[in-house]
Amino acid sequence: MSDAPPPRQAIRTLPARKRIALIAHDGKKSEMLQWATHWQDTLSQHDLIGTGTTAERLKTALGLSFERLMSGPLGGDQQIGARIAEQQLDVLIFFWDPFSPQPHDPDVKALLRLAALWNVPVACNAASADFVLSSPYLSESYEMAIPDAEAWAQARSV
Ligand code: PGA
Repeated sequence: MSDAPPPRQAIRTLPARKRIALIAHDGKKSEMLQWATHWQDTLSQHDLIGTGTTAERLKTALGLSFERLMSGPLGGDQQIGARIAEQQLDVLIFFWDPFSPQPHDPDVKALLRLAALWNVPVACNAASADFVLSSPYLSESYEMAIPDAEAWAQARSV
């Protein structure tokens, strides 16, 4: 038996300057670097956070400012999931590797679940990331529906 989805939606407004998380599994780091090089100017206009190795590599190669979290296998994916649940993240660019099982696969699944739940824009490959970065919404404020956490708590406490 599963819980019913939250009964009501609330509105969340994303700011014009987005908080963007970048994560790439090892097999995808070169592709992420190539992609980020192409979008370097755009990325530099937003607040970037990333898992440890991804952030370090992009910072060193491109000089982008990053908030660097733990490496993914050490909890970085979970940290980004927490930012999503707390409405502290606006866009997730996550090049996960479809060919390699990861030691932290449960964390990856949990992160993608939270992104789906909280209606956070997610790109899992370079083409979808191109679409997200080229969207006019990236540099504008944007209203979107999210679960109403208060209504959810009320509904479950009766
Ligand atoms: P990393 O973590 O950036 O530290 O490599 C990414 C991941 O594997 O989730």
